[in-house]
Amino acid sequence: DPHVAKFVYDFTEGNKDLKDLLGGKGANLAEMTNLGLPVPPGFTITTEACKVYLDSGEEPAALRDEVSAHLDALESRMGKKLGQADNPLLVSVRSGAKFSMPGMMDTVLNIGLSDKSVKGLAEQAGDERFAWDSYRRLIQMFGKTVLGVDGDLFEEALDKAKEAKKVTVDTDLEAADLKKLVTAFKKIVKKEAGRDFPQEPREQMDLAIEAVFNSWNTDRAKLYRRQERIPGDLGTAVNVCSMVFGNLGPDSGTGVAFTRDPASGHQGVYGDYLQNAQGEDVVAGIRNTVPLAELESIDKKSYDQLMQIMETLENHYKDLCDIEFTIERGQLWMLQTRVGKRTAGAAFRIATQLVDQGLIDEAEALQRVNGAQLAQLMFPKFDEEAKVEQVGRGIAASPGAAVGKAVFDSYTAVKWSRSGEKVILVRRETNPDDLDGMIAAEGILTSRGGKTSHAAVVARGMGKTCVCGAEELEVDTKRRRMTVPGGHVVEEGDVISIDGSSGKVYLGEVPVVPSPVVEYFEGRMHAGAQDADELVEAVHRIMAFADRKRRLRVRANADNAEDALRARRFGAQGIGLCRTEHMFLGERREMVEKLILADTEAERESALSELLPLQKKDFVELFSAMDGLPVTVRLLDPPLHEFLPDITELSVRVALAESRQEPHENELRLLQAVHRLHEQNPMLGLRGVRLGLVIPGLFTMQVRAIAEAAAERKNAKGDPRAEIMIPLVGTVQELEIVREEADQVIAEVEAATGTKLKLSIGTMIELPRAALTAGQIAEAAEFFSFGTNDLTQTVWGFSRDDVEASFFTAYLEKGIFGVSPFETIDKDGVGSLVKLAAEAGRATRPDLKLGVCGEHGGDPESVHFFHEVGLDYVSCSPFRIPVARLEAGRAAS
Ligand code: PEP
Ligand code: MG
Repeated sequence: DPHVAKFVYDFTEGNKDLKDLLGGKGANLAEMTNLGLPVPPGFTITTEACKVYLDSGEEPAALRDEVSAHLDALESRMGKKLGQADNPLLVSVRSGAKFSMPGMMDTVLNIGLSDKSVKGLAEQAGDERFAWDSYRRLIQMFGKTVLGVDGDLFEEALDKAKEAKKVTVDTDLEAADLKKLVTAFKKIVKKEAGRDFPQEPREQMDLAIEAVFNSWNTDRAKLYRRQERIPGDLGTAVNVCSMVFGNLGPDSGTGVAFTRDPASGHQGVYGDYLQNAQGEDVVAGIRNTVPLAELESIDKKSYDQLMQIMETLENHYKDLCDIEFTIERGQLWMLQTRVGKRTAGAAFRIATQLVDQGLIDEAEALQRVNGAQLAQLMFPKFDEEAKVEQVGRGIAASPGAAVGKAVFDSYTAVKWSRSGEKVILVRRETNPDDLDGMIAAEGILTSRGGKTSHAAVVARGMGKTCVCGAEELEVDTKRRRMTVPGGHVVEEGDVISIDGSSGKVYLGEVPVVPSPVVEYFEGRMHAGAQDADELVEAVHRIMAFADRKRRLRVRANADNAEDALRARRFGAQGIGLCRTEHMFLGERREMVEKLILADTEAERESALSELLPLQKKDFVELFSAMDGLPVTVRLLDPPLHEFLPDITELSVRVALAESRQEPHENELRLLQAVHRLHEQNPMLGLRGVRLGLVIPGLFTMQVRAIAEAAAERKNAKGDPRAEIMIPLVGTVQELEIVREEADQVIAEVEAATGTKLKLSIGTMIELPRAALTAGQIAEAAEFFSFGTNDLTQTVWGFSRDDVEASFFTAYLEKGIFGVSPFETIDKDGVGSLVKLAAEAGRATRPDLKLGVCGEHGGDPESVHFFHEVGLDYVSCSPFRIPVARLEAGRAAS
């Protein structure tokens, strides 16, 4: 019956596109099974089952029977029963959500072992040691993840067993030792969990499934999801898979591999292999692995087969894949594959390589990279010329240049970073409990583990600098120090520098240099043969793809010629916001002061006439920097008190002068003005168009400066394209008045200079009322530019200057929003006003030009939204222009 929910899928029933339902791991196991690759048989319990369980606290009624049916099928296929005494089928129970959450959720291996079946396993495998080792692993994992026993207790018992035997590695423990350890482990379980370790295999399996469901909501999983912006209600699937063993002797082993280098994108053999071990040993970085290439001499047949499978997978997924595999007595098994995480640089390179190989087209290449990765590539790197004291080298696990004080535990990392210190988290290896320390740190350094260790995988995901497996560093977390070769000791608080692109570790602070990608955008670097240039070449090509695809134009927020020129080099197609208040700072502040203090018409005129030529000069420079491209000049916006001295400071000055009987007439006048202009809510007060309406001559002076500058540029054979923008309009009447005055001034300048100026006049839409009456406002505006900073502030009633520091952290923690609405546009609220205003504006004036110039103009997710609602351009700070171009291209493809 198709209407009855199906909660369990055999690996032969799924495929890679069912990630929502089967999780990433389950969907890809199914895909590999159907590709005919050697996957141990098994089945997947859906995320839907998990959701039911998490919502109701109970597994769906049908689940038990469905699991039984699939288990029966599995048993008859394998010719043995789960936990069967003489020849047990063993299974792993693994979590697997839609999005990879490395190490965040639970896995239990060797389910089906018991006091009885351990003997059967020993006989079947012809290896008693192996059977007891598998059993003790089951009790350990089951005890920790299912029954909630402190994992350290098992570790301590294991250490004791090794000490008693005077050996250092667990592979030196013999069957009899492990048998004793099993007894010890069972005692720990009994004491800590208050129950016996379950001997009934089906009970083991059901409890493990439930534990995996529950692991969706552990603190560390929640924290990881918040960091990675993974929705909290997806739930995890559960994979039940027949066990294969990598710990059956030297002809067995386990490994991880990438179909290309996830750091550089280069094709080749990348991965780690560990002989005679089970999967978790590699990921946890507990024993040292050998490079995958060495597998060729260990087991050529499996190696060749693996290479072939890797090629099949790359061609099938058309992307870099990462793989977990196990070799059981010379037989290769695929345990997992997925499209692999990669560094930002590798993402760009791989995307272009795949285009060149004919595997993907340009539009698909754009989906393989994103603006956040591009932004990361624009970070600076260490200065190669600097004198440095290198003290170690590990694996370049996640690129970047990080400098900070060494700390040796996550707690200190968080504490110190809260008080404004930059820290490097130094650990022997990291585990999921280190997550908040990793978030707080500038970079992560470990002395153990490979490219696929926890530290490496998580750091890459967060875009954080990481060097791992720097083995010559002796990290002593208990004494909070590390000894480097030669004996020098780095204490907690000593500054170190780590290079996530080379793996090098330095003492002290190493100076940093700009990124090659920025050098490229600046026009200071072109294609070439070196490593950095290969990246530049890839970025260059991807940007060309994006520019060809995108519909949105990209402009810059810039107020001076220098920024404008840089923006132009970065690909800006105009200026979307010139904030003229930035032209009134420094020495000119006094002139504005004069204007504000003016009591008479004459005083005001004189202040304005001093400002006029200065403004005009600014505009001439700006228009020539942006010759041929539109420049939107916004008339003065901020509350006037921003140009006046601070009220307290001024009061003190006046009081001092008074007590010293010094002349202070000017200060007194100023103080009166400051008092007069003081507002409780200046952001809602005398600012924007309101200034233009109450301070005679202010806006007309600015319009005159723009018009005269445009005329001058025209007469110099330039191509000025000025647009005059009125801020904070709430009603069309405001705009009409200002517009009438502006039109008159423009006509005067045109007559005086004998030049025809094509100046357009428009407004910002940054108040809810403006958005709601956009149809009327468009009567008087030739363009709209959405000021989403003020619009967010006024729609939410959030002070843009205060709330991020006050209650946003709490809001983020409570999940009220996943990201600040000042960073990414709130589509449902602010966004729907933008959409509505855009539609109403265009209904009145079909050729109305629409843009956005709030901070959201450079935010990747917001750019996609602005594309969807049909704006003509986004405007953002010069540095974010490449990101906006790329995302606009991605949005359109
Ligand atoms: C805005 O409000 O979004 C805007 C661009 O103007 P400002 O940030 O200068 O207030
Ligand atoms: Mg604004």
